[in-house]
Amino acid sequence: MTQTAPDCIFCRIINKEVPATIIAETDDIIVIKDIAPKAPIHWLIIPKKHIRDLQSLREADRALACNMLFMAQQLSQQLPSPGHFRIISNNGAEAGQHVFHIHLHFLSGARLEF
Ligand code: AMP
Ligand code: ZN
Repeated sequence: MTQTAPDCIFCRIINKEVPATIIAETDDIIVIKDIAPKAPIHWLIIPKKHIRDLQSLREADRALACNMLFMAQQLSQQLPSPGHFRIISNNGAEAGQHVFHIHLHFLSGARLEF
Protein backbone atom coordinates (compact mmCIF):
# COMPACT_ATOMS: atom_id res chain seq x y z
CA MET A 1 0.00 0.00 0.00
CA THR A 2 1.46 3.34 -1.02
CA GLN A 3 0.40 6.69 0.43
CA THR A 4 1.28 5.79 4.01
CA ALA A 5 3.10 7.98 6.50
CA PRO A 6 5.93 6.26 8.42
CA ASP A 7 5.24 7.83 11.80
CA CYS A 8 1.47 7.48 11.66
CA ILE A 9 -0.01 4.97 14.13
CA PHE A 10 -2.96 4.20 11.87
CA CYS A 11 -0.70 3.59 8.85
CA ARG A 12 1.34 1.23 11.00
CA ILE A 13 -1.84 -0.63 12.00
CA ILE A 14 -2.94 -0.76 8.34
CA ASN A 15 0.48 -2.18 7.40
CA LYS A 16 0.14 -4.74 10.24
CA GLU A 17 3.26 -3.40 11.98
CA VAL A 18 1.20 -2.61 15.09
CA PRO A 19 -1.53 -4.98 16.35
CA ALA A 20 -5.17 -3.96 16.56
CA THR A 21 -8.50 -5.70 16.83
CA ILE A 22 -9.87 -5.63 13.29
CA ILE A 23 -13.65 -5.47 12.97
CA ALA A 24 -13.81 -5.22 9.17
CA GLU A 25 -11.46 -4.71 6.26
CA THR A 26 -11.93 -3.91 2.58
CA ASP A 27 -9.54 -2.88 -0.19
CA ASP A 28 -9.64 0.75 0.91
CA ILE A 29 -10.85 0.78 4.54
CA ILE A 30 -10.01 -0.84 7.85
CA VAL A 31 -12.22 -0.79 10.94
CA ILE A 32 -10.59 -1.36 14.32
CA LYS A 33 -11.58 -1.26 17.97
CA ASP A 34 -10.57 1.98 19.66
CA ILE A 35 -7.86 1.28 22.23
CA ALA A 36 -9.52 3.62 24.77
CA PRO A 37 -13.27 3.12 24.21
CA LYS A 38 -15.66 5.93 25.15
CA ALA A 39 -18.75 3.69 24.73
CA PRO A 40 -19.47 -0.07 24.91
CA ILE A 41 -18.87 -0.16 21.16
CA HIS A 42 -16.25 2.26 19.91
CA TRP A 43 -14.78 1.47 16.52
CA LEU A 44 -12.68 3.56 14.15
CA ILE A 45 -13.41 3.63 10.41
CA ILE A 46 -10.07 4.42 8.79
CA PRO A 47 -9.23 4.74 5.08
CA LYS A 48 -6.05 2.90 4.12
CA LYS A 49 -4.88 6.01 2.25
CA HIS A 50 -3.13 8.45 4.58
CA ILE A 51 -5.22 11.63 4.48
CA ARG A 52 -4.62 14.12 7.27
CA ASP A 53 -8.17 15.30 7.95
CA LEU A 54 -11.51 16.10 6.38
CA GLN A 55 -10.42 19.39 4.88
CA SER A 56 -7.56 17.58 3.10
CA LEU A 57 -9.96 15.39 1.12
CA ARG A 58 -9.62 15.89 -2.63
CA GLU A 59 -11.97 15.28 -5.49
CA ALA A 60 -10.17 11.98 -6.15
CA ASP A 61 -11.10 10.86 -2.62
CA ARG A 62 -14.84 11.31 -3.19
CA ALA A 63 -15.56 7.58 -3.57
CA LEU A 64 -13.38 6.73 -0.57
CA ALA A 65 -15.20 9.24 1.66
CA CYS A 66 -18.50 7.80 0.49
CA ASN A 67 -17.29 4.26 1.22
CA MET A 68 -16.55 5.29 4.82
CA LEU A 69 -20.19 6.23 5.34
CA PHE A 70 -21.46 3.07 3.72
CA MET A 71 -19.09 1.11 5.96
CA ALA A 72 -20.83 2.75 8.94
CA GLN A 73 -24.17 1.65 7.53
CA GLN A 74 -22.88 -1.91 7.14
CA LEU A 75 -21.43 -1.96 10.66
CA SER A 76 -24.69 -0.67 12.10
CA GLN A 77 -26.46 -3.81 10.93
CA GLN A 78 -24.39 -5.99 13.26
CA LEU A 79 -25.16 -4.00 16.42
CA PRO A 80 -27.29 -5.35 19.28
CA SER A 81 -29.58 -2.38 18.46
CA PRO A 82 -29.19 -2.22 14.68
CA GLY A 83 -29.21 1.30 13.33
CA HIS A 84 -28.54 3.04 16.67
CA PHE A 85 -25.10 4.58 16.54
CA ARG A 86 -23.18 7.84 16.43
CA ILE A 87 -20.48 9.01 14.01
CA ILE A 88 -17.91 11.59 15.09
CA SER A 89 -15.02 13.10 13.15
CA ASN A 90 -12.60 15.33 15.04
CA ASN A 91 -10.79 17.72 12.73
CA GLY A 92 -7.89 19.81 13.98
CA ALA A 93 -6.22 19.75 17.39
CA GLU A 94 -8.63 22.34 18.81
CA ALA A 95 -11.52 20.02 17.96
CA GLY A 96 -9.87 17.08 19.69
CA GLN A 97 -8.05 15.38 16.83
CA HIS A 98 -5.04 13.45 18.14
CA VAL A 99 -4.26 11.12 15.25
CA PHE A 100 -3.79 13.06 12.04
CA HIS A 101 -5.01 10.34 9.71
CA ILE A 102 -8.68 10.89 8.91
CA HIS A 103 -11.09 8.55 10.68
CA LEU A 104 -14.68 8.26 11.81
CA HIS A 105 -15.48 7.29 15.39
CA PHE A 106 -18.35 4.78 15.39
CA LEU A 107 -20.02 4.66 18.82
CA SER A 108 -22.90 2.59 20.10
CA GLY A 109 -24.24 0.56 23.01
CA ALA A 110 -25.05 3.39 25.38
CA ARG A 111 -27.26 6.44 25.59
CA LEU A 112 -24.65 8.87 24.37
CA GLU A 113 -24.82 12.41 25.72
CA PHE A 114 -23.06 15.41 24.22
P1 AMP B 1 -8.93 11.49 17.55
O1 AMP B 1 -8.69 12.07 18.92
O2 AMP B 1 -10.24 11.88 16.95
O3 AMP B 1 -7.76 11.75 16.63
O4 AMP B 1 -9.06 9.92 17.76
C1 AMP B 1 -7.96 9.07 17.83
C2 AMP B 1 -8.44 7.80 18.46
O5 AMP B 1 -7.50 6.79 18.19
C3 AMP B 1 -8.58 7.89 19.99
O6 AMP B 1 -9.92 7.58 20.37
C4 AMP B 1 -7.59 6.84 20.50
O7 AMP B 1 -8.05 6.13 21.62
C5 AMP B 1 -7.44 5.93 19.28
N1 AMP B 1 -6.17 5.22 19.21
C6 AMP B 1 -4.92 5.74 19.34
N2 AMP B 1 -3.99 4.77 19.19
C7 AMP B 1 -4.67 3.63 18.94
C8 AMP B 1 -4.26 2.28 18.68
N3 AMP B 1 -2.97 1.91 18.67
N4 AMP B 1 -5.24 1.35 18.46
C9 AMP B 1 -6.54 1.71 18.49
N5 AMP B 1 -6.98 2.97 18.71
C10 AMP B 1 -6.06 3.91 18.93
ZN1 ZN C 1 -1.59 7.42 8.33
